Amino acid sequence: MKPIAIAIHGGAGTILKSTMTPEKEVHYLNALDTAISVAYEILLEGGTSLEAVEAAVMELEDSPFFNAGKGSVFTNLGKHEMDASIMEGRNQKAGSVAGIRNVRNPVQLARAVMEESEYVMLCADGAEEFARRMHIGFEEDAYFFDQHRYDQWIEIRDSEKTMLDHAAKKFGTVGAVALDCHGDLAAATSTGGMTNKRFGRIGDSPVIGAGTYANNKTCAVSCTGHGEYFMRAVVAYDISCLMEYKGLTLKQACDFVVFDKLKKSGGEGGLIALDAAGNIELVFNSEGMYRGWKTSDDDYGIKIYGE
Ligand code: ASP
Repeated sequence: MKPIAIAIHGGAGTILKSTMTPEKEVHYLNALDTAISVAYEILLEGGTSLEAVEAAVMELEDSPFFNAGKGSVFTNLGKHEMDASIMEGRNQKAGSVAGIRNVRNPVQLARAVMEESEYVMLCADGAEEFARRMHIGFEEDAYFFDQHRYDQWIEIRDSEKTMLDHAAKKFGTVGAVALDCHGDLAAATSTGGMTNKRFGRIGDSPVIGAGTYANNKTCAVSCTGHGEYFMRAVVAYDISCLMEYKGLTLKQACDFVVFDKLKKSGGEGGLIALDAAGNIELVFNSEGMYRGWKTSDDDYGIKIYGE
C-alpha cells in the first residue's frame, strides 16, 4: 500500500504547561485527536488528500478552542472576519477567501472558490454572495462568540494595539496537510486573524504561497504565526522552492525557513509540512504549537508544548 499521512496544527505561540489547566489541556488534545481521526479515516478509505484536509480543518473550525470559524477573534469593530485557503498538490489548483463574515466553515468556501469559480481569491461581501450561491452554511454572530476572546478584545479595543489571539502571544489559526493513497498532497489553513485588527487587515493564511502551499513535486505546507512576517518571507512557497530548486530535504528546508530566515526577521510562529514520501515536519520557533499527526507507518502523536 502507498503511504498515507495527515498532520494538523491549531496554532503556535506562547503555549506553556505552567499556564494551562488540566481541563483545558484535555479539551485541546481531544479536539486535535478528533480532527486527526476524521481525516485519517477518509484517507484510509481511499479518499483524497483534499477531502482529508478540508475535513480536518472543518473539525477544528467547529471547535471554540481555536481561532478559526467558531471562536474566531474580534476585530476592532467587534466583528469576526475570517480568512482561509486550500490547495491541491497534483495540479496547483487553489482557492481562498479573506475578510469573510458569518460563514460557518471558511475552508469549505475556499474549496468552492477553487472548484466552482474561475478565481483563486475572493473577499468580503463578494465572497459571501458567492457562498450563498453555493449554499454554504452561515451562522449568526452569536455562534462565533467566545467569552475569553471577547475579554481579550475589550482589554485593547480602545488602543491602537493589534493582538495575537492571546495576550501572551498565541496564534490560534488551524491547518492541515495530507498525503493520500494516490500520491497526492494537499494543504489547507483557516483563521480569525488577529484580535483588534482593523482596516480590513488580512494575514498570511489565505495568501497562497505565504500561509498555504502544495505541490506533489515537493511538499504541502500550512503555517501559523505573525502573518505579516510570513507574507514577507513567502514562507510556504519558500520551503517548496528550497526543495525543488536547491534539492534540500523537507527537514532542511523547514529548519532553515523557521529557525534561520523567519527568526532573524523577527517572525514568530511555526508550520506543518509533509512531502510526497510521507515525511512530516512540525516546526516552530515559539514555545509551543498545537499539533498532531498520523501515518500508515503507525506513527501517531498529539503535542502542545516544545520538546
Ligand atoms: N497567521 C495568522 C494571521 O496572521 C495568525 C495565526 O496564525 O494565528 O492572521
